Amino acid sequence: MDDQRYTIHCDECGIGHCRPISTPYLLKLGKHMMVMPDSPAYACDICGNRFFDEGFLDGVHYLLEQAAADSRRQARRRQAPRPEPTAMPHARRSR
Ligand SMILES: [Zn+2]
Repeated sequence: MDDQRYTIHCDECGIGHCRPISTPYLLKLGKHMMVMPDSPAYACDICGNRFFDEGFLDGVHYLLEQAAADSRRQARRRQAPRPEPTAMPHARRSR
């Protein structure tokens, strides 16, 4: 491939070019491992340095935050409401 538009200069070795590849993205979530097959990434043709596409990572992290917020909300609904210690009771009145 000689598509120069998508080659990125390698920060790791400084001489290689990183070419788009697709590779599984592994993400550890507590006890669980999440795998996203065929994730957009780049690999250096000299040193083999690999990194994932930033836009892809942003998207994944955004979705994970949404999912985490959703599951927290659902967990709260499912459990009997526990009295939580009220943190900083004066925080809202401080203005
Ligand atoms: Zn490199």
